[in-house]
Amino acid sequence: MSDLFVTGIGHLTTNEGEAMVDAVVKVEDGSVVYAGPGSDAPDQGPSPRVECEGRAVLPGFVDSHTHLVFAGDRAGEFSMKMAGASYADVAKSGGGILSTVAATRDASEDDLFVSAAIRVRRMIAAGTTTVEIKSGYGLDLETELRLLRVATRIGNELPITVRTTFLGAHFVPPEFRDDRGGYVDLLIDEMLPAAAPLADYCDVFVEEGAFSVDEARRIFVAAKGHGLGARVHAEQLAHCGGAALAAEIGAVSADHLDHITEGDAIALADAGVVAVLVPGASYMMRSPQAPGPMLIQHGVSVALATDCNPGTSYFESTGTVISLAVVQMGLTTEQAIHAATRGGALALGMEGHGAITTGSAGDLVVLDAPSPVHIPYRPGTNLAWKTIKAGRVVAGDQSPG
Ligand SMILES: [Zn+2]
Repeated sequence: MSDLFVTGIGHLTTNEGEAMVDAVVKVEDGSVVYAGPGSDAPDQGPSPRVECEGRAVLPGFVDSHTHLVFAGDRAGEFSMKMAGASYADVAKSGGGILSTVAATRDASEDDLFVSAAIRVRRMIAAGTTTVEIKSGYGLDLETELRLLRVATRIGNELPITVRTTFLGAHFVPPEFRDDRGGYVDLLIDEMLPAAAPLADYCDVFVEEGAFSVDEARRIFVAAKGHGLGARVHAEQLAHCGGAALAAEIGAVSADHLDHITEGDAIALADAGVVAVLVPGASYMMRSPQAPGPMLIQHGVSVALATDCNPGTSYFESTGTVISLAVVQMGLTTEQAIHAATRGGALALGMEGHGAITTGSAGDLVVLDAPSPVHIPYRPGTNLAWKTIKAGRVVAGDQSPG
């Protein structure tokens, strides 16, 4: 929680009204106390100053969907898939999500923390100030709890806000292959009660081969009893009813949505469910992007996230995801930036985040560019000149702060 005076902003995205030119932001005790024209700016007082020299400033990225705590990687599987191997071929060769589950079960808590923290430091350096982290590579009580503890520790030890999600219902583990009902019972009777104190949300992967709508509904009802909000992996590989379920139960978010229908979009808008879109996953799987413009047209709040995971979307950079959303999904730059900042905050129920207005969190990214259009226009380049968390410069050129 620090004070900071940010001056000489050439282009300020506040997410409230039009962008401003020649702006100043003042942060006190970690929160924005002024965002407006330089001509009306308050005194600098004793605050350290960042002089932007015309650079663009926007809210820090809020990455609302990741699976970034895991062991191992799936580079071999990637090469197989690029050469045309099917899902079944990959599974037969020992790849797929179960290979990550096996590696993660074998990893110590410290090793999981160290590898995840390296990824998160790169995210911070690329402008991310809030991240959601899911469990889901343990699929047994002990490992799921270990993953949630690591996620919590990242938020405690690194300059980033973390929200945690229990995703024990990611996949049916191999030891329950012939007793999936037994795994759902275990989730509800033992895993959820133990995980709830470590988690903000419960997520279920609703998909052919993962969990059905009816199984997911049972899990979400139990999760609600433990005080956990709902997020749903929905309509990623096929239309399976996950989006309608998200609307029915009042989930905070429905995520992926590559195969969503217009009827589902209207239901999400009516229920106030945020659509978390992850264009990196569609890109890596060479599948069509989710219909972001259609969702926005129907009044759905849209967020953009990396879906950082070792199998289908090993993205750490929100900037690259914004570029995919603009170039491949058809969002405007303004829509994509809003989705990666304010949209992410809405998807995590975080009022006062994802905006630069009086009272909002002092989480900012200064781009080494004069406007945010440079983000989609220059994919693969980290344009975060400084990342500012709660009024403190935490990455990039760190003078002053
Ligand atoms: Zn996911």
